[in-house]
Amino acid sequence: MLPSKLLINGALVEGALKLEVVNPATGHPFATVSRADAGQLEEAVASAKAAAPGWAALGCAARGEYLAKLADAIEASKDDFAKLLTTEQGKPLKQAMGEVIGGIYQLRHYAAQRMEPVTLRETDAVRIIEHRTPLGVVAAITPWNFPFMMVTQKMGPALIAGNTIVAKPAPTTPMCTLKIAELAANIFPAGVVNVIIDNNDLGAALSSHPDVAKVSFTGSTGTGRKIFAAGADDLKRITLELGGNDAAIVLDDVDPKAVASKLFNGAMVNAGQVCLAIKRVYAHASIYDEICSELAILAENAVVDDGLNQGAQIGPVQNKMQYEKLCGFLEDAAANGTILAGGKLLDREGYFIAPTIVRDIADDARLVREEQFGPVLPVMKYDDIDDAIARANDNEYGLGGTIWAGNVDRGIEVAMKIDSGTVWVNKHLDLPFDIPFGGSKQSGIGREGGDEGLFAYTQPHVVNIAKAAI
Ligand code: NAD
Repeated sequence: MLPSKLLINGALVEGALKLEVVNPATGHPFATVSRADAGQLEEAVASAKAAAPGWAALGCAARGEYLAKLADAIEASKDDFAKLLTTEQGKPLKQAMGEVIGGIYQLRHYAAQRMEPVTLRETDAVRIIEHRTPLGVVAAITPWNFPFMMVTQKMGPALIAGNTIVAKPAPTTPMCTLKIAELAANIFPAGVVNVIIDNNDLGAALSSHPDVAKVSFTGSTGTGRKIFAAGADDLKRITLELGGNDAAIVLDDVDPKAVASKLFNGAMVNAGQVCLAIKRVYAHASIYDEICSELAILAENAVVDDGLNQGAQIGPVQNKMQYEKLCGFLEDAAANGTILAGGKLLDREGYFIAPTIVRDIADDARLVREEQFGPVLPVMKYDDIDDAIARANDNEYGLGGTIWAGNVDRGIEVAMKIDSGTVWVNKHLDLPFDIPFGGSKQSGIGREGGDEGLFAYTQPHVVNIAKAAI
């Protein structure tokens, strides 16, 4: 049976309202789920607040056991999770399974974290200790491109640090979060984990709620700005993982065919709906034509299909609004560049767009300046590497980026000059949980992952002691 109930105060409950969920591969609803009203939002926050002191008092080791149990329960039904993820989000089943397994590892990683007090200074006269206390209620607000892993990414650190949580997924992809809620209901003490579903109408109330101590948000920069402003009155702790427009810079000493395949995968994974996807390519003039034609061959040959079908490489885009937005980018590409492959919608039901490669497009075209968030890739030429670096940096976003280099030292030199949170050299999307990740400029504030990401769910508390007796 498909999950459909909210999780409030330890109980799975019907929503005051209902919400239809559409399968992007068909464009038709496949589930009707509970949707909360403002009163249920209040109940969820109140139950998280009431549960917070008891959960905080348990200590890391005991909390870790609960998180490990959740990871085990998810693993026991990982096939169902992956299928549900593909059906609600569109990505090919293999990618969905990768996301689910990644989320399980993530929960286990956080289950093993411990935060013992640290002695910052110890002399004959003085001892200074820092320990970390939880913040209270965390609102976890997530987008529709990774509806499984974005939730575990926030649940893991929030809960191990001793906070309680109210999770709210994007309304077009509520299913995996609801299924996590079903399992969590049988594992966690009442109120520690709450899940509500909305129709883009409760995020503002949740993120500005006076009893929410921290908002951990992943989504668009526009919404991130609203959350930042909404938190100002209470000085909420806020982590914002926002949009990106990541450049790939291809140096002149690479094998163009090998790199084209990496670029294609980096741009088209999850139908391009990855915050850290390659969203624009700058290739050296000496290899530009070959890179463009290799990318076009890969695009022409890619299998675009319902992610549940064997062999599908690229699924539909996730929702109608995004599909319509991408139609605008296709028009812009046709008007301002040369479309080498794709450039059209597929003639079938569902939100399918042919993978599209665009060359000879100006840097000020919309497709280059804005985040397209779809399978449409612009490829630009450069002669001078400093010019490529300047063009890559000339953007409001600064989330990720990749450098492709025959000589790795040259690659590192270029990577050091890219103004982004993470820059990979000769690889892409490697995001170990113990390494901090996040954006510069308009791509966000704060970090997830690493100690920095974990500590962002805590309040540092310093105790400064004079050793001499009074
Ligand atoms: P979105 O901002 O439209 O929605 C994200 C979430 O915010 C949803 O749950 C939505 O219901 C909620 N929301 C809407 N209005 C709100 C408000 N006023 N206050 C609080 N919450 C509100 O984003 P999206 O379209 O779902 O996701 C795509 C975007 O997410 C892209 O820009 C992508 O780059 C970004 N993203 C970033 C990362 C990252 O780690 N940096 C990861 C994935 C996606």
